[in-house]
Amino acid sequence: MTRPRSPRARLTRWALVAASAALGGCFGTPTPLAPGLSGSVGTPQAGVLTDGVELPVRGPGFRRYRPKSPNYWGNPRLIAGITHAAQVVERAYPGTAPLYVGDLSARRGGKIPGHRSHQSGRDIDLLFYVTTPSGASIHSPGFVPLDSDGLGQVPGADEPTYVRLDVERNWLLVKTLIELDELRVQWLFASRDVEALLIEYALARGEPLQLVWRAATVLLQPGDSSPHADHFHVRIACSPSEMVAGCEGGGPYWPWLELPAPPTFSAPGELAALAER
Ligand SMILES: [Zn+2]
Repeated sequence: MTRPRSPRARLTRWALVAASAALGGCFGTPTPLAPGLSGSVGTPQAGVLTDGVELPVRGPGFRRYRPKSPNYWGNPRLIAGITHAAQVVERAYPGTAPLYVGDLSARRGGKIPGHRSHQSGRDIDLLFYVTTPSGASIHSPGFVPLDSDGLGQVPGADEPTYVRLDVERNWLLVKTLIELDELRVQWLFASRDVEALLIEYALARGEPLQLVWRAATVLLQPGDSSPHADHFHVRIACSPSEMVAGCEGGGPYWPWLELPAPPTFSAPGELAALAER
């Protein structure tokens, strides 16, 4: 856990961040205005990003859904984790359609159109892998809401066209993401129907119960936004070193995620200085 700060201290800190942003300051190097803050700073709903990495337009097993969008910047751990997972799925199912990646964050973070979160480089939207109704892998036609049977009608198509959730590949994606310790997946937002199809499949193929429990823990239909019946929204938790550099957002920090060690103040001088604050 991080050391609790007073509301005033938090306010001062954010005033510094805002002031630096207004001046166009680069957060990459600590400045007198925002000393020590870098990386995913603040929360997903009120944050900024420094030293982010941009997802390439395409790579092994993935493509950007919006190739020209400026909002493909993220925390380096997030970019590394997603590109790795896409590659794992491609190797397991060669010749199948790639993972289509939706929005991440703006280069310096902050609000982007269509999202309340996605502000600090810790959120990414992933379109589901889909097949034809008979099971052939196809390129995702876009955001298609899927029903409890895994089928969905493609919006705006000239004639009724249906796609089906590719349960096998989506499960491998989920499994790979949550098994990457350094990625620290906090949430995998998706509808209850999609979660049920994936968990049912995982149990049927005899996946380790510990893994299935983790998946069922992080998969969640959000209560305060769209049900996510047409894509995954992955959110990663702050790492201990990122928390020290300003990453915030609270829990939940699942039992398998490492937390920073509580601060120790061994020097008598430090304790005395704290007591006088
Ligand atoms: Zn999202």
